Amino acid sequence: MSREVDVIVIGGGIIGCSIAYYTAKAGLSVHLLEQGSIAQGTTQAAAGMLGAHSEYLNETFYSFAQESQALYREFRNHSGIDFGYTTGGILQLAWTEEERLALSRWHEATHLSPEQVCKRMPDIVPSPFGASIFEVDVHVHPEKTAFAFWAAAEKLGATLSEHVHVTKVETVDAGYRIADWNAKHVVIAGGAASAELLPGLQMTTVKGQCMQLDAMGIDLPYTLFHQGCYVVPRLDGTLVVGATMEPDETDLQTNVAGNLALNAIAERFVPGLSRFPVLKRWAGLRPKTVDELPYIGHIPEKENMYVAAGHFRNGILLAPATACMIRDLIVGNEVHKERIEAFDPKRGIFHGANYRTERQPV
Ligand SMILES: Cc1cc2nc3c(=O)[nH]c(=O)nc-3n(C[C@H](O)[C@H](O)[C@H](O)COP(=O)(O)OP(=O)(O)OC[C@H]3O[C@@H](n4cnc5c(N)ncnc54)[C@H](O)[C@@H]3O)c2cc1C
Repeated sequence: MSREVDVIVIGGGIIGCSIAYYTAKAGLSVHLLEQGSIAQGTTQAAAGMLGAHSEYLNETFYSFAQESQALYREFRNHSGIDFGYTTGGILQLAWTEEERLALSRWHEATHLSPEQVCKRMPDIVPSPFGASIFEVDVHVHPEKTAFAFWAAAEKLGATLSEHVHVTKVETVDAGYRIADWNAKHVVIAGGAASAELLPGLQMTTVKGQCMQLDAMGIDLPYTLFHQGCYVVPRLDGTLVVGATMEPDETDLQTNVAGNLALNAIAERFVPGLSRFPVLKRWAGLRPKTVDELPYIGHIPEKENMYVAAGHFRNGILLAPATACMIRDLIVGNEVHKERIEAFDPKRGIFHGANYRTERQPV
């Protein structure tokens, strides 16, 4: 016998779990379908930074990221769940005058001279052009955060089926049917694999390798960040060093080249850091769209079907804002026009292909 809900979400990563939470919070009945176990895709590979400033892409991205940070603060205060929310923020280092100038435009940052950096953080490699602290760019534990969103959604009545690989979304009178679930609304939040359900959706991946160090004795009050590389101090006293950017690799193996690159990153920030014991190494595949901004919105020609995927380096940062945008589209709340345009899935769908006749979408 089929069961009815308002919304089916496909994909139990940070994006799918947060969508389940915010739609359930809006009073909708929600079922989440995950082909494996929740929070085990790219989400568990992330460092967890909410780097609105370090990952700045454009003003639309920035205001969306700021809203997401605010939603995290609210979720932390109201959920009562520990998801590794760690204050302090990100210290962005300036190794050139050009980098110092670029950082100086942020009025909300605290700008430090090279001497002030040395005084505050004697353990790190002195940066010749100082550094800027972005306190608002806190970090979370990605896996725990996805679980926290799911736990909060479940409390509101959302349900979950794990180990269900969705291969087909059938159109039925009242909406859609997937396995034995019927819903008016379907959200595809399958991360890098979303294109499997949406043939023609342009999605590539960029592999990233990380390592976690037992660096007892090294006290970092901030995440250290420079040109896409970082050292993140987790609450348990360990440090996450990341990450490689490998566009042509699609496997999830860690390797010697990655190890060497991570050692070099570690030494770039803290002398001797690469000699600390490695607790864990891992790799993940960042889902990348045509322009590094996510696809969030209606799927063309499919009423009440949406995609929320392709968050590249920023899925943890953007998860709550993404979920609220999907919720607003579903319930008919107003959504900023510039966001609809900037994140429109159309820009990545079926370039040069005839959507209806050449491809067989879901
Ligand atoms: C090394 C590294 C470091 C990163 N650091 C950060 C960071 O510091 N901050 C940040 O914001 N972001 C970071 N990211 C990016 C972030 O991890 C991703 O953007 C985010 O996890 C994407 O989440 P997702 O839910 O879209 O995808 P996923 O976590 O991959 O989840 C998608 C889920 O959908 C399921 N699924 C797919 N297809 C189907 C199907 N057909 N049927 C059923 N289920 C399906 C999958 O099994 C999976 O569980 C990092 C990424 C990497 C690799």
